[in-house]
Amino acid sequence: MTARVEFRGLRRTFGRTVALDGFDLTVEPGEFVALLGPSGCGKTTALRCVAGFERPDSGAVLVDGEDITDVPANKRDAGMVFQSYSLFPNLNARDNVAFGLRVRKVPTAARRARAAELLDLVGLPAHADRYPHQLSGGQQQRVALARALALEPRVLLLDEPLSALDAKVRVTLREEIRRLQLDLGITTVFVTHDQEEALSIADRVAVLREGRLEQAGPPAEVYDRPATPFVAEFVGTMNHLAGRVAGDQVSVLGQLLPVDGPAPAGAEVDVLVRPEAVRVSPDASGEGEVLVASFRGASVRLRVALAGGEVLADVPGHEAGRLAPGARVSVRLVERPVLVAARTAASPSPAPSPAAADAV
Ligand code: ATP
Repeated sequence: MTARVEFRGLRRTFGRTVALDGFDLTVEPGEFVALLGPSGCGKTTALRCVAGFERPDSGAVLVDGEDITDVPANKRDAGMVFQSYSLFPNLNARDNVAFGLRVRKVPTAARRARAAELLDLVGLPAHADRYPHQLSGGQQQRVALARALALEPRVLLLDEPLSALDAKVRVTLREEIRRLQLDLGITTVFVTHDQEEALSIADRVAVLREGRLEQAGPPAEVYDRPATPFVAEFVGTMNHLAGRVAGDQVSVLGQLLPVDGPAPAGAEVDVLVRPEAVRVSPDASGEGEVLVASFRGASVRLRVALAGGEVLADVPGHEAGRLAPGARVSVRLVERPVLVAARTAASPSPAPSPAAADAV
């Protein structure tokens, strides 16, 4: 009941807006892939092309090698859950879940049994008689999930199913969705603009930019080895530090570090450094000064002023007492290969990027 889904060169325009611009991606059978990207990059459009609610201008969608681009939505073997609660308000949970079965003329008793089984699966065995307005947002999304799975689709499509829920329910439900997906082994495409959500739930994260695939890879790879500065910027927080390439090393903040990947020789570059790769220690004669310390649970994020700009650093919570705002500090980068990117006029020296600047 699981399938390979291929997006092949999908292009879709709406008037002058290019929503998809040659989008290519293959989702393997049983895989959970998160489509991640900023608002308007085409994630939902790509998903709707699989569901059959949208037709690409060119390109094709293949399921198990079969071109389904022209197959009507109701003949496709896909279950979909939307962001906003899309349950029928006049049907109770059981009848919502059984709706598709009724359309397919499954007999009443079998319908009820299947609906009960599915409500059990999503953790709502005692809620069959409740109407949507008697259910919390999280419960409604569970019912929507049960409904999407009722016809045993080969593909599960989830369009920001958690974004209307509060933070705690969001985390619980995403873990349950993942558990269910692994149990069922169903190929799943999950749209989100929340990078933490994407990294935590998916086998692979596909980062989209302006209707095209920028990078697809396992969460750790996308985070640690972003293929482009755009991915580096969008997934997690990055410092942009002024550096100078010398051979296969780069000089940055007075240190020489190996360059990860190819670098323009002798050029002034941006060195991309995660806040957790920045070490800060109290130092009365250090050149840095802690400006802001933000508590983040297990760690504290520091904004540190240096001679030429600012840098963000994540330090363990227990070190934060000695690194309060106003403290003089010295800053070192963890000794490991760093990514470099061509300097952009927008990149200050050596201040963090605007995205990173928002992070404290
Ligand atoms: P978001 O996270 O904001 O939902 P998204 O990445 O899912 O964004 P899409 O919804 O796929 O993006 O939209 C891509 C682009 O196509 C956007 O500029 C959007 O305004 C436009 N678009 C999508 N659907 C339509 C439509 N039916 N009519 C006109 N423009 C559309």
